[in-house]
Amino acid sequence: MKNPLLYYSTNRQSPLLTFEKALLKGQAPDRGLYMPEKIPVLTTDQIMAMREMEYHEIASIVIGSFLKDVIDCEILKSLVRDAYNYEVPLQHVYDRKYVMRLDQGPTASFKDFAGRMMGRLMNHYLAEQGGELLILTATSGDTGSAIANAFYGFENIKVLVLFPTGEVTSRQRKQMTTLGRNIQILGLDAKFDDCQTLVKQAFSDPDLAHLSLSSANSINIGRLIPQIVYYFYAYSRLRNVSGNDEVVFSVPSGNFGDMMGGMLAGKMGLPVRKFVIATNENDEFPVFMKEQIYRKIEPSKNCISSAMNVGHPSNLARLFALYGGQLDEKGQMHSQPDIEQLRKDIFAVSVTDAETKNTIKQAWDKYQLLLEPHGAVGWCGLQEFIEQNPDAGHPDQLCISLETAHPAKFPEQIRDILGFDPELPPSLKGLEEKSEQYDLLENDYKAFNNYLKTKY
Ligand SMILES: *Cc1c(COP(=O)(O)O)cnc(C)c1O
Repeated sequence: MKNPLLYYSTNRQSPLLTFEKALLKGQAPDRGLYMPEKIPVLTTDQIMAMREMEYHEIASIVIGSFLKDVIDCEILKSLVRDAYNYEVPLQHVYDRKYVMRLDQGPTASFKDFAGRMMGRLMNHYLAEQGGELLILTATSGDTGSAIANAFYGFENIKVLVLFPTGEVTSRQRKQMTTLGRNIQILGLDAKFDDCQTLVKQAFSDPDLAHLSLSSANSINIGRLIPQIVYYFYAYSRLRNVSGNDEVVFSVPSGNFGDMMGGMLAGKMGLPVRKFVIATNENDEFPVFMKEQIYRKIEPSKNCISSAMNVGHPSNLARLFALYGGQLDEKGQMHSQPDIEQLRKDIFAVSVTDAETKNTIKQAWDKYQLLLEPHGAVGWCGLQEFIEQNPDAGHPDQLCISLETAHPAKFPEQIRDILGFDPELPPSLKGLEEKSEQYDLLENDYKAFNNYLKTKY
């Protein structure tokens, strides 16, 4: 008998759905986020056995437990093997303190982990049901290349990325325009916000209803579940063979999707002593943890860890749901989560830009540890946790801080602070020689509507 896991909306006003329906819907009709009704728990034996497994094998166990009865085991195995074909380095820093580098994917950001899996799952279900999707997305740089790379080569999904020609670096542009096949890129002599507006207009245009437009939204449940895997992977490689070993993870956080992966890993049975949740100066969550009052920050503050400039993290709705509370998409708290339990599990800390820069300098000088601004926020947060909890600084305490992007993606900052240019990872090399292809369009909705209708 089939008995698939069901997913509810954090706003509690939408029907429960199976995984594949929640995946293709993205956001729930009541504007909430999908969450699994029950968290699957792995046995200690299962977790211990991961020591001998490759990353994609661990991924197939973890992701498979959320997709029970909605995907064939062998198909899932081939999808994860294909998605996770790159290294996940665990860099030793000192004692049992490590940095996990999630920057070896095709766009050198941790978003590859989620994007590549979500794309493959969507493509699989569309092929099964005979459907097609056209993904529309506007980018100011990195999201577009992550989505374009994650969906490259699929038969049932086409991607169109809109970018402002004057606001994207040539390296960022080339990461999108050198792909081809099902990936189409459209440049506009406009601002990022204008691109975003055109995309939104297209989504609500009945004239385009026949195109099956979708957004590969960052709050999709299909992006969250793959982000549980690397927590299990890190633990499998670094845990002590003998006896109990509880790990401290430090996660640089913006929209809180990365940290939600960790929290779910903990609920699945991973022995975690504490999650250090480090934000930049957008400190709405650290303030909430202290004062129990949630106030979103509007507009969000501009910090050098730019991918974390989020004044109202959408995944907080999921975190609070996990702790019995309810927060809606506007930032309104309908019921408070269990703050005592949250404080037991999480140490929240806000890191300033000055501290971020200092951390980059000190990590390099002291340990030859090369961090970019996001990873530096995480590493700084861990140092702060250790300072306030000296026993966590014990040489035997395992601590793992996440590095979410490759330093070569932030050459100006690294040059400023450390005085050299970081070396490009293989994935970003050779872009110069590749030929580019993209269309140019005026910033006008009629022209965009016409472009879509002729092209697709
Ligand atoms: C998106 C991003 C983050 C923030 O991750 P969230 O899941 O939104 O908290 C951190 N670092 C980098 C480099 C990112 O691109």
